[in-house]
Amino acid sequence: MKGSIKLFDIFGISIRIHFTFFLLPILFGHFYGLRGVFLIIFVFCCVTFHELCHSLQARHFGVKVEQIVLLPIGGVAAMRSIPEKPSEEFKISIAGPLFNITFALVLFLPAYYLLGPENLFHPGIETWPKTFAYAFWINPILALFNLLPAFPMDGGRVLRSFLARRMEYGKATRIAVGFGHAFAVLFGFVGLISTPPNPILIIIAFFIFMAASQEGMQVDLRLTLRKFSVKDVLPEQFFSITLSAPLSEVLALTLHSHQEDFPVVEHGKIVGLLTRADVILTIHQFGVQKLVRDVMKKDFPVVQVNDPLIKAHKLMEEWRIKAVPVLNRERVVGIVSLEDISRVYLLMSGKK
Ligand SMILES: [Zn+2]
Repeated sequence: MKGSIKLFDIFGISIRIHFTFFLLPILFGHFYGLRGVFLIIFVFCCVTFHELCHSLQARHFGVKVEQIVLLPIGGVAAMRSIPEKPSEEFKISIAGPLFNITFALVLFLPAYYLLGPENLFHPGIETWPKTFAYAFWINPILALFNLLPAFPMDGGRVLRSFLARRMEYGKATRIAVGFGHAFAVLFGFVGLISTPPNPILIIIAFFIFMAASQEGMQVDLRLTLRKFSVKDVLPEQFFSITLSAPLSEVLALTLHSHQEDFPVVEHGKIVGLLTRADVILTIHQFGVQKLVRDVMKKDFPVVQVNDPLIKAHKLMEEWRIKAVPVLNRERVVGIVSLEDISRVYLLMSGKK
């Protein structure tokens, strides 16, 4: 994630912190002194362990987790994809809140005897015992908040996993997204009418709303693409280009056809992929005389003509490209683009 710095690696997962997170210790330190800074660092640790528990459970099911980014509004574990199997999604989602509940239970007796009920049940920030009491309540609060069925928060995922056992995955997701939207509106409303207004709650509401919509659409797209193979959407005509062609030739081809990315073919075999982004960047820097061989990607994915369409889409996401060359065994038979995929999606979902 942009604007974040790496703190350390643990179990092969990078723990990163977003620069905006540093605002919190500064703000709390300014208003509440050392006790404020202590509280923020304690929250930071609890959130990190919470995300780590999600991540380790996800990895157990074969999901790649590269990093955990801590933002002022909470942590985000960057997972490639959440398993569709309800039991696996349930275990991954519950792992985080379960850590907070367990930690709170372990801390309860020591906190009760060391701080006394007069402090434990009246947390504050005026004295150290009251601050420790505050710290104690952070874990139950984190657990409860995350377990609200506000999809895609943990509780929302738990909800979807329950629904998906009883109905089709797409329908379960749509219901969960509805819960996400409803909670987002509720959080936003509460944030606005609080005195003073609560900006963090408003930001969280905004994020939940966007994330719910986005995930709903992704699931919809995935389910639609599963019904097609690459050859169903492959344009009948395509252009390939040779290693020694200058970019001016590519530019002319782009203008005369609708194709923007080109397979580079030499002696009947594919040797490169020339993307529109690379062409534009090079023309701006070096002009149109540069040769294809100097600009093309030598490392790129390909799909077979009979592969499922979802595979092409996944590769585009992973490689951050907008088109993938299509082969029939060794022979190049076309190039499938993100546009081809969205055309099918829009047709199938009846949107324009
Ligand atoms: Zn969580």
